Parts: sequence; structure tokens; C-alpha cells
Amino acid sequence: MFKIIIIDGYIDEPTCLGVPPYISPYPRYITGSILKQDKNNRIYYYTIDQIRQKNDLSFLTKNNLIILIAGTLVPGRYLAGYPISPYEIKKFLENILVKKILVGPAAKHGFGMQGGQKTYNPALLKDIFDLIITGDPEIVIKNFLENNLKTKHINISEKRKNAHTIKEYANLGSQIVKQHPYYPDYIIAEIETYRGCPRTITGGCSFCSEPSKGLPDFRPINDIVEEIQNLYKQGLRHFRLGNQPCIFSYQSIDAGKIEFPRPNPEALEELFSKIRKVTPELKTLHIDNANPGVIARYPIEAEEIAKTIVKYHTSGDVAAMGIESADPIVIKHNNLKATPEESLKAIKLINKIGSKRGNNGMPELLPGLNFVFGLEGETKNTYFLNYEFLKQILDENLLLRRINLRQVIPIPNTKMYKTGNKLINKHKNLFKKFKNQVKENIERPMLEKILPQATIVKNVYTEKHDGKLTFARQLGSYPLLIGIPGVYNLKQFMDVKIVDYGYRSITAIPYPIDINIVQRETIDAIPGIGKKRTIRILANRPFKTKDDFLKVFDDPIVAKDVLDFLSVSN
Ligand code: SF4
Repeated sequence: MFKIIIIDGYIDEPTCLGVPPYISPYPRYITGSILKQDKNNRIYYYTIDQIRQKNDLSFLTKNNLIILIAGTLVPGRYLAGYPISPYEIKKFLENILVKKILVGPAAKHGFGMQGGQKTYNPALLKDIFDLIITGDPEIVIKNFLENNLKTKHINISEKRKNAHTIKEYANLGSQIVKQHPYYPDYIIAEIETYRGCPRTITGGCSFCSEPSKGLPDFRPINDIVEEIQNLYKQGLRHFRLGNQPCIFSYQSIDAGKIEFPRPNPEALEELFSKIRKVTPELKTLHIDNANPGVIARYPIEAEEIAKTIVKYHTSGDVAAMGIESADPIVIKHNNLKATPEESLKAIKLINKIGSKRGNNGMPELLPGLNFVFGLEGETKNTYFLNYEFLKQILDENLLLRRINLRQVIPIPNTKMYKTGNKLINKHKNLFKKFKNQVKENIERPMLEKILPQATIVKNVYTEKHDGKLTFARQLGSYPLLIGIPGVYNLKQFMDVKIVDYGYRSITAIPYPIDINIVQRETIDAIPGIGKKRTIRILANRPFKTKDDFLKVFDDPIVAKDVLDFLSVSN
């Protein structure tokens, strides 16, 4: 029997997210592997944020093994947790004299520090770790335990035989979610449906690590459903089918033979309907990654799949499309997946099926767009073409839930590694200017279209204070950041009403909220109210009835508008 610590340093790969509130498959499969070796093994799961809060790490030495999950390969900004850095690994683990293993994207490809910077080589940490696993952690760790923690004869690059192999690990390992600090309410399980990209046949996109996983290996429908059922039994209610290059290509016909295989709507219908059958009180079911090249090539099948998603999912969902560039030269140089025309076709199709407002206040399903900068062939004209593309989307009244502009992280063994950060340095100012242009002229008007003023957004979770502002988000794919003026209790769900817009966030106030108890900052944020009226309201509280409130107010029209946002208790 071993005592094992899993430290979740958080991961972010092109096709998988594991930064809170997301829990990636890594800790779950690894737990399954440890329990498969011996069901009496003891496992203690910590997030890196929990480790950061401890003054004394000596408890780590009382275990037989520490497994660190780490690595971000795409630049991201996070609210609820920040991934571990190589510096922190040295700080926390260098002097802990216990066997240690590094797994995750950091072990396979290195640490992505920030956009434009080559990855940090994990070999530089070889003195800290006994094993740096480049294969599948669940397989290698089981072998290591069976070998009584001896590294001799352990093949660190050993991989699973096929996608079905992980079924047992996934089911056994679901229990680890109970140890997550955000369990049970604010945690969303990232679910793997397959790995490997069909475009590996042509080498894939120049910057992407996914082709290193080979051709698609689809998990059987019942395996995925069983895993979700097990997680549900453990108490989870939020799920995202996010761990795959393109959800529309799940179980696609001729995957492995052609670059853009024909989607399989029947498989998606079966998958989604079965998930809903085993999760009667599910609260979130979202997707990630969709290949615009596939959607544009097979509009009939793609439309059917989009309808299936909208039928079974929960609203506020996002189909994130990595279009990367609207410049035909960059597309050609980097073997990207879609032309601007194809991307536009895909955006239109998702809008047609998904733009209707759903139960939680957000549109059902919208496209998100990812752009990557610093790619081979990029010139000043690239920025112009990208901007024109976004402008066209806005002018055509199409909705985008998210525009993600990032600089490439050159990953070893990708074609982009040779180009490195040459173009990023050259176009530093162009990128900065472009980002501001998009923020001001595209993102803000887009937000106003997606969520008109006074829209009610349901079940946002309060996460952080910043001065007299409370930040909250819904759970799900790329949730909108909501700033609530006032200091509200953290870790609670509330409904809010939209009052104003930032570039990438919105301002909203709790709804309904009583005028007699509402905080000054919140009243101040209501459209048209102003500082003077806020002071008058505060001075005349409490109001017994709505009429009392209306009498005190100078302008009855403004007062009525205000009452649209607030209530008066009797
Ligand atoms: S289509 Fe391109 S970006 Fe998407 S997974 Fe394949 S190689 Fe990566």
C-alpha cells in the first residue's frame, strides 16, 4: 500500500483545460491507475493553490510518492487559479526527499510561459523528478507502482493501447473529484471524447501539439457515458465535452483516412441523449473545439449536430473555432484548417442554430474565434485582413461569444518551433494596436448585441473581490466575466441584471435586490441614476412601499426605470 500525493498544478492544452473550476482528466485517470494497482493505496489530492497557502510543506515527506500534473501550452488568463511555474516547482519540491513524478503537457512538451516565448525545457527539472513521463501517465504510473517505485525498466513514453483502455481508469478515478477544494458546486469535469487530429495526415497546423497524438482514436460512446455517470454519482453536476480537437468530428466516418472526415450525426445524437439519461439533475453540459473546415464542408451533417447539441446541452455554450488567421498567405504557410469563406460559413451555421436566448440568459450556442499571431507568412496586411474579417461578422449581425487573440507559443516538434518568436518580436506593436482596435470596435458592440441592457443572467458564481467590485461567472465554456459593483459574499450563486459593458466583461447588479438593503455602489451602477439620486435614496431608506419610493424620487420616469432593477420590501 502506497501513500501518494497528487498535486494539480493545472494544465491548459489546445484540446484540454484543467484550470479551476475545470478538473482535467489527468488527476482522474491517474487516481484510477493508482487504485487499479492496489485498491488500498491512499491518495491525497491538492491543487497548487492549496499548496501555495501552506506555510509548512513537511507533510509531503510523509508519503511514498508525489505526482505533479503541470503545463500550459496556450497562453491564457485565469481567474480562479494560476498554473504552477518551473520556479515554483523548484521552490516547493526541490528539497522534498520523496519520489517525484512530473506528468502532463509540461512533461511532454515543456512549460509554455507566455505567448511568443519558446517553452521551458522540462529536462532542466530532471534533478527534481525521478520520472518525467512523456507517455500516458495512467499507464506509466501503474507500471512504476507495480515495480515498487523503482525506475529501472520503466518506459516513460509508454502509451495506452487504445481509447477503450482508459475506461477502467476513468471510472475508478472519478472519486478524486470529492477532494477538489471547489467540490461539489463549483467544479466542471473536462471530458475526453477522443484524441488525435484527422489533419495529422497532412501534418496539421504548424503550431499545434495535437498531431503528436496521432490519428483520431475515439472513445466508445458507452465509455464516455459511464464515466459521466460515475462522476455524477460522486456529486458532479457540471460537464464539458471539451477534450477533443473537434466535437463535430466525433466518430466521423473515414477519420484516419481523410483530412476532413464526414461527421456522424447519429453518433452525436446517441452520445448526448445517453448522457442526459444518466444525469437527470445535470446543471451544465457544454462543448469546446469545433473545426470550421469540417462544418463548412459538411453543412447538412453539421447542422444536424448543432441541433443535437442545442437539444441536449445547457445554454451559454460555445463552439470555439481555431480559425487562427483570415490571411490566405498565413493559412497556406501554416496548413491552417479553413479559409475565411469557410470560417464565415461555419459562423453563420452556428448562429442560425444557436443564437436564440436560452434558460440561463445567454444565447444557446455561439461560435468563439481563436486567432494566433506570429505565424509564418504574417505581415502587416494580416492584421488588416483579420480586422476586416471581424468587422464583416459584426456588420452582418452575426454573434461571436468570444474572440481570443493570442501569440503563438513555439512548441518543440512543431513546424513553428523553427520560426520561434521572430515575427512576434517584429510585430509587437502591430499586435498591441490590433488588440485595442478589436476590443473597442468589435468586442464591446458584440457584447451589447449578445446581452442587451436589463437582460437577466442566471446562476453566476461570485469568485473574487477587487476593491468594491465583486467578480462572478457562470459555469461553463468561456463564461463571461461579470463585474458586480458592491462587495457581495463570495462562493454563492446569484442572478444578475445587465447594466453596462466593458470590452471583455459586463457590469451587472444582483437581481432581484431590495432597495432597502442594496449597497451604495450597486445603486450607483443603475443606468440613469447618478450620484445625487443615490445619496437621496440612501438618506430616505427604508421605503415601505413602491409608492413611497416613487414619491421621494424627483423624476418619476427615472424612478420607474430604477424599479425595473430593484424591488421594495414591505
Ligand atoms: S486542426 Fe490544427 S489546431 Fe486543430 S487539432 Fe488539428 S492540428 Fe491542431
